[in-house]
Amino acid sequence: MSKKHNFSAGPCILPQEVLKKASESILNFNNDNLSLIEISHRSKPFVDVMDKAINLVKELLEVPEGYSVLFLQGGASLEFLMVPFNLMKEGGKAAYTNTGAWAKKAITESKQFGEIIVVGDSSDNNYNYIPKGYEIPADVDYFHCTSNNTIYGTQMKEFPEVSSLIVCDMSSDIFSRKVDVSKFDLIYAGAQKNMGPAGTTLVIVKDEILGKTGRTIPTMLDYNTHISKDSMFNTPPVFAIYVSMLTLEWLKNHGGVEWIEEVNNRKAAMLYSEIDRNPLFEGTAEKEDRSNMNVTFLLKDSEKEEVFNQMCFSTGINGLKGHRSVGGYRASMYNALPLESVDVLVNVMKNLENN
Ligand SMILES: *Cc1c(COP(=O)(O)O)cnc(C)c1O
Repeated sequence: MSKKHNFSAGPCILPQEVLKKASESILNFNNDNLSLIEISHRSKPFVDVMDKAINLVKELLEVPEGYSVLFLQGGASLEFLMVPFNLMKEGGKAAYTNTGAWAKKAITESKQFGEIIVVGDSSDNNYNYIPKGYEIPADVDYFHCTSNNTIYGTQMKEFPEVSSLIVCDMSSDIFSRKVDVSKFDLIYAGAQKNMGPAGTTLVIVKDEILGKTGRTIPTMLDYNTHISKDSMFNTPPVFAIYVSMLTLEWLKNHGGVEWIEEVNNRKAAMLYSEIDRNPLFEGTAEKEDRSNMNVTFLLKDSEKEEVFNQMCFSTGINGLKGHRSVGGYRASMYNALPLESVDVLVNVMKNLENN
C-alpha cells in the first residue's frame, strides 16, 4: 500500500501495524470468530484489554502508587468542565494559563464554578510564546496549564513549582516525552493526538485530591464514579480503548517514551533547521518555546503557496494546512509519524527554493 505522509493535527497518524491489527480484530478478535465491537465489555477478553491498556499507561509513564488511570468519554473538552467540578471548592478559585484556544476553552468552563485568575497569558501575540515567571497565588484550589498548544506550535519545556494542586491538559504531547507524573495531581489527554482514535480521554488522577469540594457532582461527572468501577460504570468506548492499547504496546515494544522522545527530537530538529535555513520560510512560534509535536510556519511570499501546496500534494503530504487562526502551515509530527516523512517534507521545501 502506498501511504501518504500524514502530518494531520488530529485525529492523526497511527502506526501501520496498529491499524492492521485493529482492522483484523474488527472482523475476528482473539480468533473467537467474534468482532471486538460485538462482544460484551464485561467479557474476559475485553476486561483484559482494559487492564492491559491501564497497565501500559502506568508502565510507560511510570505512574506512581496512589494514582488512578481512567479511560473516559467526552474528549479533553469534557475535562475542561470535570476538572473544576471535582477540584474547585464552593466559593473557591483556580489559576489558569491562557496559552491558546484550548486553554481559553478550559478557562471559560471553569468560570462557572468560581473565581479564575489568569496567571500567564500569551494572547497579546497570538499565543506564539509560553508565558513565564508568573506567580501563582498560594490559596488557589488548583493551577491549570496546557503542556502543548496544538494550534500555535508552542510547548512548555518546564512546569512551574506550585504549592497548590497542578492539573495539565497534555492532549497533544502525552507519551511524546518523559514527564514526572508525581509532580502532577491530574493529567488529561484526548486520545486522538498521540495515543489512539478519537472517542476516549485518558485521565491520570491522584486519588487523595478527590471528594474534597463539598459540591454535589453528577454521577457521570464524578471521577470517583469511574475510579470505583474501573472505567466501566457505563459502556466504555471499546474500540478507542483497544486501539489505544495497541498503540501503547507498539510504543513499549520499540523502547518506550525514552526512545520516542529521541526520535521526536530528531524529527523536530530536522524540520526546524530547514525552516530557519530556507529563506522562503519562517517559523511562527518563539524559538525557545517551539513545540516538537506541532511545527507552525509560513511562506514569506504567499504567492508561492500554490506551487508549494501542489508539490506537497504530488509527494503525498497530507494535513499540512495551518489552523485558520494562525494561517500558513502546521506539520504535526506525532509519535507514529516516521522520520522518513519529515525527510520528504524537508526535501519539498528545498526543491521549492531551487525551483
Ligand atoms: C485537541 C485538543 C483538545 C480537545 O480535545 P477533544 O478530545 O476534541 O475535546 C484539548 N486540548 C488540547 C491541547 C488539544 O490539542
